[in-house]
Amino acid sequence: MEKEADAAGISGSDTTLTVQTMQSWTGTGPTSFSSREGDDQVRTSERIINEAAQGILGYEESVDWFSSLEPFEQRAVLQEVVRYSMQAHATAEDGREGVSQSGVKPTITPAVLIVRAPILEQMGKILNLPPSEYVNSFRVLLSTFTVADTRRRETECRGSCSHPWHNMS
Ligand SMILES: [Zn+2]
Repeated sequence: MEKEADAAGISGSDTTLTVQTMQSWTGTGPTSFSSREGDDQVRTSERIINEAAQGILGYEESVDWFSSLEPFEQRAVLQEVVRYSMQAHATAEDGREGVSQSGVKPTITPAVLIVRAPILEQMGKILNLPPSEYVNSFRVLLSTFTVADTRRRETECRGSCSHPWHNMS
């Protein structure tokens, strides 16, 4: 059988990354949960990530929640934040601003990666960091998503929009 290219291992500088490439990173996310609890987990994570981005939930509270998860759940959540960041059209500039706003050390590995373009490739690298970097990665990805999502809410979503995650009661 032909081996699928390891999307996250892409190192070429001219590589055009597609949504399909991104899905190959994130495709093993929530679907790997097999129990009903897993479904609840997905909903909980969606709510927490978006509430944090909208300032409804504190950044540190959301990090505490993330820290309480098992590593396999944490990885799925990291994939989820990457997916949302892509939906919000996050850029490396958003990564720089996110790192600066979140107060994480700019020298931690995910912070070093996120500020470089193309951000999709960097996010793939972040997802492949070892479990010891998961909490740092969550801090960096969440703060980057927050910057991108805030801009989107203040521009194209301004007034009203049909995104369920922007209309949580
Ligand atoms: Zn919206």
